[in-house]
Amino acid sequence: MIDHLQKSRRIVVKVGSSLLVDSAAARVKRDWLASLAADVADLRNENRDIIVVSSGAIALGRRALKLRDGLLRLDESQAAAAVGQVRLAQTYVDAFHVHGIAVAQILLTLEDTEERRRYLNARETLTTLLSLGAVPVINENDTIATAEIRYGDNDRLAARVSSMMEADMLVLLSDIDGLYTANPQRDGSARHIAEVGAITPEIEQMAEGPVSGSSKGGMQSKIAAAKIATAAGVAVIITNGHQLHPLKSPGDARKTLFVPGLSPAQAKKRWIAGSLSACGTLVIDAGAERALRSGKSLLPAGVKAVGGHFQRGDAVVVRSEDGRELARGLVAYNDEDAKRLAGRRTAEIEALLGYRGRDEMIHRDELAFTGRDAEPAEQVSGEYTP
Ligand code: GLU
Repeated sequence: MIDHLQKSRRIVVKVGSSLLVDSAAARVKRDWLASLAADVADLRNENRDIIVVSSGAIALGRRALKLRDGLLRLDESQAAAAVGQVRLAQTYVDAFHVHGIAVAQILLTLEDTEERRRYLNARETLTTLLSLGAVPVINENDTIATAEIRYGDNDRLAARVSSMMEADMLVLLSDIDGLYTANPQRDGSARHIAEVGAITPEIEQMAEGPVSGSSKGGMQSKIAAAKIATAAGVAVIITNGHQLHPLKSPGDARKTLFVPGLSPAQAKKRWIAGSLSACGTLVIDAGAERALRSGKSLLPAGVKAVGGHFQRGDAVVVRSEDGRELARGLVAYNDEDAKRLAGRRTAEIEALLGYRGRDEMIHRDELAFTGRDAEPAEQVSGEYTP
């Protein structure tokens, strides 16, 4: 594991309930969490961003409320989550405090990663937290999520977060050491698979639903998560996290690595080029076109005209003055502000708008060429919707 993590700059670690909560004693496994916190602190000291997605709220809360064993009704799980989440968060605070690291609790619902404006906000807050040195600990907002708006399991939630945050690695710490050709608990001839290049129907067929008690996701939800993440350029590792220091397991420890076919940056550009419908147009001058082609961002000065109605973060088409489509990109201003800024220098932004926005109209990382001499704007396969 450790060699893969050392190649990654931003890592999302998903912690399953069965690792964190001793369900018989209804307690958090503090030694295990302390060892995870130590691993995370080490990775942070090497300048890596770490985001934790942690389950365990329902497992902790159900005991506190003395709810029966077995399947809970939706309202009971929601009540359990409300009680358990406070405890879960406090336990993380204690474990990371030892290393002088602040923990931030983020509770997400499906809409937060599906709806563009909420997604932008969630991403901005997470980015700020990471830049301030905090470790975000994310869970689904179980208490308010109804059946229709649930991620349903934290494997998928973690995959969405990885894609949203352009992580380069997602580690699913669970109670199994990876993908097998069949369920190893039932089939003695099941073989472990160390690496998956493409998630084919054959791979999907190998996976079964949940087996263990408190976890929601079985191998099926892990494969679904791996599909979402790899389509966004995120590599995925599924491994057994039961031992102490789960992120320090040696390179040859058993795990399954899912290799993405493209980088997060490429996935994002393809998504911008191929899957988004544009809400407006920016017409740019020849100097700006040359700047874009040499890999620079689009500055307000190069914009000659603005068309359509759009919000910050929407996709727009970039055209030349003679009407050729050159590129598509995510614009940093809404249409009204973009009109005020068109043709003006970056230094004037604050005076013109009354606030200090981004220097670029479209940042180069959020711009994809789509014109005739561009690479074909292929559709991203899978479910990449950052
Ligand atoms: N959000 C649930 C909890 O914290 C867990 C969901 C899952 O295990 O995937 O209890």
